[in-house]
Amino acid sequence: MKSKVLLIYTGGTIGMMQDAKTGQLKPFDFKHLTEQIPELNKFDVALSAISFEKPIDSSDMQPTVWVEIARMIEKNYSKVDGFVILHGSDTMSFTASALSFMLESLSKPVILTGSQLPIGTIRTDGKENLITAIEIAAAKKSGKPIVSEVCIYFEYQLYRGNRTHKYNAEHFQAFQSANYPVLAEAGVHLKYNISALAKPSNKKLKVHTSLNPNIAILKVFPGITENVVQAILSSKNTKAIILETFGSGNASTQKWFIEALKKAIDKGVIIYNVTQCNAGAVEQGKYATSAAFKKIGVIGGSDITTEAAVAKLMFVLANSKNNKEAEKLLKSNLRGEIS
Ligand code: ASP
Repeated sequence: MKSKVLLIYTGGTIGMMQDAKTGQLKPFDFKHLTEQIPELNKFDVALSAISFEKPIDSSDMQPTVWVEIARMIEKNYSKVDGFVILHGSDTMSFTASALSFMLESLSKPVILTGSQLPIGTIRTDGKENLITAIEIAAAKKSGKPIVSEVCIYFEYQLYRGNRTHKYNAEHFQAFQSANYPVLAEAGVHLKYNISALAKPSNKKLKVHTSLNPNIAILKVFPGITENVVQAILSSKNTKAIILETFGSGNASTQKWFIEALKKAIDKGVIIYNVTQCNAGAVEQGKYATSAAFKKIGVIGGSDITTEAAVAKLMFVLANSKNNKEAEKLLKSNLRGEIS
């Protein structure tokens, strides 16, 4: 039996081609995908494709679009063996993180991929990315999918989606997963890192479509003014703030800063401490410069990425009854997003 894979084209560079007349990049017709990539005909995979009516540059991504993608997956879940989502690389890590929280008890692969150069260009990285992403989405062992989580495949590497960060706008290798091992490597052979892969769920897929976008990011820097901090902490309707701190979760010990944070926490705003570093984790209390955070009720984000923290906060805020429950969920490893 051939594996069935559904391609969902949301937009981004990968699906663009140059208009012969204007020279501008425009999305190509996904009904004619194999005209662009004849290699797809050689695959022993039953491929189907759906495209957003209006493909978007992923910098225009919104939580409402994540809901749209999650619903497309839900609708087709029993019909196919795996999904490949074509997506711009700019916000791919955010989308992969959001989908990981929205798709509970996943037992099939959801692989996001894209490219730095459009498929139609000679040096495109899109063909390899797409072809191997399909191979991974179709891969089975003893009749069961090898991968059963939300991943990003880019430039010969498969990553856990909610561990990734786009760190390079120039190189074909655009993503990094600094705090979690690569899940598979594509060389002459496709080598899976079996012990790092999530175990498939034996429960029924549960799709969560409620997200609360009332969050903010406060990135600290030497010299940040009280004005700026106050403006973010007291912004209307904001329910949770990612405090992007130095190193292992440190920031200024100035009295006004700690007091401002405490006041926000006392008013019910969740403050979530995430490091500005690419690798490593927040350890509140390791240094004196983070000890006060622990005391006033700042929640440590461990080794979560900012991208996954954004998605997790939106998910947790919409799916918990009160701040106590939200805190419990934030501290728990829900989808392999923290170590
Ligand atoms: N700006 C594009 C996007 O994220 C870049 C890309 O496709 O990689 O949609």
